[in-house]
Amino acid sequence: MKQLLILSGKGGTGKTTVAGAFIKLSKADAYADCDVDAPNLHLAVENGTLRDKSDFYGLPKASIDPIMCISCGICFDNCRFDAIKTTDGYSVDTYSCEGCGVCAALCPAGAISMDACIAGDLMLYGERPVFSTARLRMGSGNSGLLVTEVRNRLSKAAPKVPYAIIDGSPGIGCPVIASLTGVDMVLIVAEPSLSGISDMQRIIETAKIFMIKTVVCINKYDINIRNTEKIESLCRDAGIPISGRIPYDEKVIYAVNSGISITDLDCPAGEAVRTVFEKTMEIFQPIEKEKT
Ligand code: SF4
Ligand code: SF4
Repeated sequence: MKQLLILSGKGGTGKTTVAGAFIKLSKADAYADCDVDAPNLHLAVENGTLRDKSDFYGLPKASIDPIMCISCGICFDNCRFDAIKTTDGYSVDTYSCEGCGVCAALCPAGAISMDACIAGDLMLYGERPVFSTARLRMGSGNSGLLVTEVRNRLSKAAPKVPYAIIDGSPGIGCPVIASLTGVDMVLIVAEPSLSGISDMQRIIETAKIFMIKTVVCINKYDINIRNTEKIESLCRDAGIPISGRIPYDEKVIYAVNSGISITDLDCPAGEAVRTVFEKTMEIFQPIEKEKT
């Protein structure tokens, strides 16, 4: 299955709006939301019937048996994450515990166990199309592992589907690395602000390390034409294709609030996203263009 990943340097750039439009325009048979910290692709695409909901277990968390504890303080002294609390005996703050296991290894009384902990929920919707998504629980980490699981479940549920569209996580942290691994192409939705340019460059560098083909589109290009031109110039110098400019359009807010795709509306942004889609798919998978 070929995979097109849509990324942005931070939230609020229109990544999910573009991903939702691509899924709709391509009539994709497989798609996933890898923004597990704040998933919202389900608001923009067809979800189908929920066919599986599973718990996701992250790293285990420490817990202290108060009966076995001899109050030596070794765990408190050695926890680098300040997760051991001493109010009313020794205990573990599970929100701070990173599951490193140091305390359990050092406890002379064997009072600390490492327990499996549910860190998120995995959901799989529909037969065709298949939609894989997940939600990290509040205060949980390991979102990279969860992203990997979302993608694995998509591949298993749709083994014969020729391509998938993936809405990635914002930023360039662990979940983005997990999203990037093994994809065929990345579309960066860039914003013409100084931070947007910096974010774009960081993703380009990251994708380069993974040797993944990268394409850029510029959202809300008209809020700063000078920065838009700078993005285009940087991409030209780096040999990265630009698949188009999308103007700022208040209809986007209306589309998001109505749960419809921007391409369902007759507006400048919808028209521009169609062009971005066509150009991106030409680079990603020419055969699929005919399908639309
Ligand atoms: S290291 Fe073990 S025995 Fe010592 S305070 Fe911690 S839990 Fe209690
Ligand atoms: S497992 Fe690691 S982070 Fe958690 S309480 Fe023990 S030492 Fe601290």
